Amino acid sequence: MTTTRAVARFDALKTAGSRSTRKFTKSYGNLPSSNLKTSEYFGCNTFGFEQMEKKLTASDVAVLREYATSDKPLTLELANKVADSVREWAQARGATHYCHWFQPQTGATAEKHDAFFSLDRKGNPVERFTGKELIQSEPDASSFPSGGVRATFEARGYTAWDASSPMFLMESENGLTLCIPSLFISYNGDALDEKTPLLRSISALNKSSVEALKLLGHQDTKHVIATAGPEQEYFVVDEALYNLRPDLMLAGRTLLGRNPPRGQQLEDHYFGSIKPRILAFMTEVEHELYKLGVPCKTRHNEVAPSQCEMAPIFENANVAADHNQLVVEVLRTVARRHNLVALFHEKPYAGINGSGKHVNWSVADNVGHNLLEPGDNPFDNIRFLYFLAATIKAVNTHARLLRMSIASAGNDFRLGANEAPPAIISCFLGDTLTEVVTKLTSAGGQSLSERAKQINLDLARVPVIARDNTDRNRTSPFAFTGNKFEFRAVGASASISPSLTYLNAAVADSLNEMNDTLRKSNPKPSNEDILKVIVDTLNEHKRVCFDGNGYGAEWHAEAERRGLPNLRTTPDALKPLKEPLAKTMLEKVGVHKGHEVDARYNVKLERYIKVRMIELETLHEMISNEVIPAAVSHVSVVAKSVTNLKMAIGKAPEALDAQLKTAADLTGQLNEMKDKLGRFIDECSKIHDEPKLADKIALESITLMDSVRKVSDELELHIDDGLWSLPKYRELLYVL
Ligand code: ADP
Ligand code: MG
Repeated sequence: MTTTRAVARFDALKTAGSRSTRKFTKSYGNLPSSNLKTSEYFGCNTFGFEQMEKKLTASDVAVLREYATSDKPLTLELANKVADSVREWAQARGATHYCHWFQPQTGATAEKHDAFFSLDRKGNPVERFTGKELIQSEPDASSFPSGGVRATFEARGYTAWDASSPMFLMESENGLTLCIPSLFISYNGDALDEKTPLLRSISALNKSSVEALKLLGHQDTKHVIATAGPEQEYFVVDEALYNLRPDLMLAGRTLLGRNPPRGQQLEDHYFGSIKPRILAFMTEVEHELYKLGVPCKTRHNEVAPSQCEMAPIFENANVAADHNQLVVEVLRTVARRHNLVALFHEKPYAGINGSGKHVNWSVADNVGHNLLEPGDNPFDNIRFLYFLAATIKAVNTHARLLRMSIASAGNDFRLGANEAPPAIISCFLGDTLTEVVTKLTSAGGQSLSERAKQINLDLARVPVIARDNTDRNRTSPFAFTGNKFEFRAVGASASISPSLTYLNAAVADSLNEMNDTLRKSNPKPSNEDILKVIVDTLNEHKRVCFDGNGYGAEWHAEAERRGLPNLRTTPDALKPLKEPLAKTMLEKVGVHKGHEVDARYNVKLERYIKVRMIELETLHEMISNEVIPAAVSHVSVVAKSVTNLKMAIGKAPEALDAQLKTAADLTGQLNEMKDKLGRFIDECSKIHDEPKLADKIALESITLMDSVRKVSDELELHIDDGLWSLPKYRELLYVL
């Protein structure tokens, strides 16, 4: 027997299983040719400095470049010129609208479109775009999370052009829109978005790094940037199956579903050959991203079935953050063209690996030196060690803030689940660097200059050995991989901005402190003075370095002994935002004003609560509408058989009786669980103190949802497959 709902499942399976691979026709903006090489059309839909150079004078572009990296205001005259040239460029490609494209604190992007079309004074239709419109727009801020920064009666928010990230054309089936990367600030200039703090942190890091470099003898450094290369993991699932899973649609993750006998245990998926349908999808994604100037480099299957990854070539951190938002957006939209849905939840399938974003991060100067690259000689290595020490100091001092930066309801399922780094923030350095740090910090009766001599010799070996020592520790949240750090604990659905922001801020603060100490010791420091600061810093902060197995129970005990924080749930992980340590530092380096930090806490806490409540309510609905009805149908069918047999031959086989009993018992249990779930939701709705509610949810909701799930998943095993309406794990994961 099947029910109509279950019939829908079988229909969806048939649809999903018989899809053909989508072929797409490549288009290249308004470039004339077909079959261009990537390098020939890369960035054809972007309007950055190179395009400006074609339309504006060299001196105008020089001013714009400066405007992009400093606080200097732009004259309206120049803004008008840029606006004119970008409108011309965009219109030549068929764009009809423009929008300020910004990043409110929702993890996603926002856009409000305005037409170039206007009426002139005489009422004649014209196309127009002014410098004023380019620089600033005024969306109603009241519908975006602000965490109390903006009083409700003061709804005004402003978006302001971020000239350091190129404008781009977003194509849709029926037209193009010019997107202007923008900041989002309140009437009083408070940050309402993710980009403003990121830009402030980049500027803080620039100041402290340039100063450090000057002290280290690099007098001609003009500026320093943070670089970032975020590897993006995601799952894909067939749209028809997805549409039958309310949990995937509303909560982004499966709240129910029995693990299939075959998951990822055969280890045959990672780097496995990519299924044609997925490869076609990836290729189209890359094509769209190339046009937008996103330098996609790597694509591959990830560990879990139907899990994939893409990685770009690294860029300056601000552009990389914008580009990662575009990656997610393009993955989402192009997936639909292939009748797929891309899932970015950190743990869409319980029992199977989740998805993260490995944010590779480093610091580079204006001539492209990577400051975390061990050099070829001891002098360069001193610079390297100075920045390394500053990073270690930052991670140790602000481990709680960095943990906060990756906190989300989704990431709670992933951190520490023995597939992703634990919630304890530590640094992995690798054998070579660990040896260097150990030698530097163990006095062993030698004077510093004796050690320096010995280490200078040793340091000369660093580059060769360090390079093949990269990325071998998957259990570390913050791993040194040869010439950069990899912040591996960031969630797949998160914007990378907060993690970059707080990392940049903490490193800037560490550098400032080290610079002060160094300057005080000697305004013209010698190598030995510098080395002393490095060694003292390492000594003070090396407790955060850990090269062992981050999954092991021993590490948890050891970390506790070292005094390293282990903040397991989001409400706990957000607490650093209420503490003076983080607040003071963020104010000092100019990344946040104090009340902005409070506001971020409120936004994040509220979001956590909302996400969990959506999960609880979706689960309640699914149990009520899908699982229990299927169970009841099953029980009644079996019961009827038992009765019929008893009537016909006087008795029913014991096995059938047993089956009936199991199914009926489980159904009864599930019904009780459902009521319990309902009561919990009621209780929660009556608590208005948000921190209290969040703590209650963190303490009770996961256990409760897990226990409901356990009974439901057990029922899934016992119930006639023909009655089960929810696509099963095996179908979601393998029918592609
Ligand atoms: P690994 O195998 O160690 O992860 P990859 O070369 O595959 O190294 O790089 C992974 C990501 O790190 C890529 O996105 C890459 O562009 C980025 N990356 C490389 N160098 C840097 C750097 N200096 N700063 C930031 N990101 C970087
Ligand atoms: Mg990597």
